[in-house]
Amino acid sequence: MRRGFVLGALLTVGALSAAVAAYQQGAAAPKVVTVDKIKDNLFVLKGGGGNTAVFVGTNGVVVVDTKLAGWGQPILSKIKELTPKPVTTIINTHSHGDHTSGNVEFPATVEIVAHQNTKTNVEAWPPVYGLANAFPNVVKESGGKGVPKKTFKDKMTLGSGGDRIDLFYFGRGHTNGDAWVVFPALRVMHAGDMFASKSIPIMDSNAGGSGVEFAETLTKAFNTIKGVDTIITGHSATTMTMDDLKVFADFNRDFLNAVRDAKKAGKSVDDLPSDLPLFIARAGQDQLPGLNDSIDRLVLKALALNRPLTLVNYPAGAHAFDLLDDSPASRSIVRQVLDFLRTQLTRAGS
Ligand SMILES: [Zn+2]
Repeated sequence: MRRGFVLGALLTVGALSAAVAAYQQGAAAPKVVTVDKIKDNLFVLKGGGGNTAVFVGTNGVVVVDTKLAGWGQPILSKIKELTPKPVTTIINTHSHGDHTSGNVEFPATVEIVAHQNTKTNVEAWPPVYGLANAFPNVVKESGGKGVPKKTFKDKMTLGSGGDRIDLFYFGRGHTNGDAWVVFPALRVMHAGDMFASKSIPIMDSNAGGSGVEFAETLTKAFNTIKGVDTIITGHSATTMTMDDLKVFADFNRDFLNAVRDAKKAGKSVDDLPSDLPLFIARAGQDQLPGLNDSIDRLVLKALALNRPLTLVNYPAGAHAFDLLDDSPASRSIVRQVLDFLRTQLTRAGS
């Protein structure tokens, strides 16, 4: 029981740090895009928001997700270093501003493809639930540019042969329009934020996300998608496998069941033990709208409740938990997180 509680606490901390990691790739200058080569004609571009996939086809380039505002041009510049072929298509895995804002910086000739609900969400641009400020509405600011034109409901195929791309929708989770993007010839998939990283799931109810359906949607994806060896996640620094997706789906089912059981037993968040340990890392220069405001509110709330709290503030930091932002300070913070987990797990085992 004790172990369960402490693990629960660690999971809570994990959720927070995952959320921080997921959203902390802010717009701090200069905008540096780094490249991971996955296959000869498939690359992952990192920096400034979600992971961007660049697929070089026979006649042009397909880009999956376009990062935060101001990162479309850096993506285009980096693609020029990789291939002389023009970008023909953008696919958005979902509507969030750290995956779609760069859309408006691409030439108007580029076709934008997404799930039909993602089109609706991009047009409405609701604030992400839980973030204090919304992503700047670049679509509105640019007079409606960047909205997906070509949409699908359950499945759609683009191109053929080696250029083929399959798009799937398996139900609600992170939002109500999460596309799973499969490159069959390469046995690679981009899973967007349905699989942002191996962490607590993040769902945005303002964009139709569902914690109740999350696990089911993951399981459907795992059972349906065949012939994939490599998964590009929404945010993690490295690629994953289908086995990782299975672990993530199973974890989410257990997580949902634990929450359901607790709810059935009449428990609420107020029943969490008052010695629940918290570890919070804050990057002072984070550019993501509202993130630090949310962290600050959480810290104040925890202090008001007199909860045990470790706060690490990194005034110059753009991404406290982001291993890509390698510096002595970020290394120290990562080390402190690991020490915190080690201490708490030792406590749990005793
Ligand atoms: Zn998202």
